[in-house]
Amino acid sequence: MNTYQKEQFETLNLVRNYMAEHLAVERTKLVSMIKDYLCFRDDTSDFLFTYFGNICTRNCYENKLSACCSKDGIITFFADHVINALVSEISELDAMAAAVQNPAHDFKCIYLGKNGCVWKIKPIVCEMFLCSNAENEVFKKNPESKKAWTDLEARKKRYTWPDRPVLFDALEQYFIASGFKSDLMYMNNSPGLLRLKQNSIKKGHYI
Ligand code: SF4
Repeated sequence: MNTYQKEQFETLNLVRNYMAEHLAVERTKLVSMIKDYLCFRDDTSDFLFTYFGNICTRNCYENKLSACCSKDGIITFFADHVINALVSEISELDAMAAAVQNPAHDFKCIYLGKNGCVWKIKPIVCEMFLCSNAENEVFKKNPESKKAWTDLEARKKRYTWPDRPVLFDALEQYFIASGFKSDLMYMNNSPGLLRLKQNSIKKGHYI
């Protein structure tokens, strides 16, 4: 496995093992933390299905291009793994681990299986990515969809952009407090995001 695969595999295992060992009480706490985020993801899925379902299926999935699923280039946050594990069956997490160790494609994302992405709740970076061809076609034809997309992007920031306390940071902190660490805890190890947090704390946005 290359470095990217190792980072993914280690985090996947860390989260899976934690879930296996701390079932009922911890799980209930974590599930309540992500409830609102899952509503946001449902709304985003509905939007994408309505406006982009046809074009993405036609241009990218059916002809097996999957252009946005590039090799080792997808940022997955630690929180993406936690959220996905909380809503996945053991067998689905097993399938992810297998995909990471033995990717189905040499030049595509390690999570791209024969039947599509193996995540149940895709990483947020993937969910919110629209290629410019699709964007141009859809937003031109349906101008109202552009406004709806901008609203969804603003909602996304409330969970992921640490200029105030956000879910993605809270989930990292939850595991850090239990003594865990992962290279994918970008909210707590990316210099840029740490700087953003520090500046926001100084401005009093972290109350
Ligand atoms: S995680 Fe899934 S959606 Fe994201 S790039 Fe990989 S295969 Fe594509």
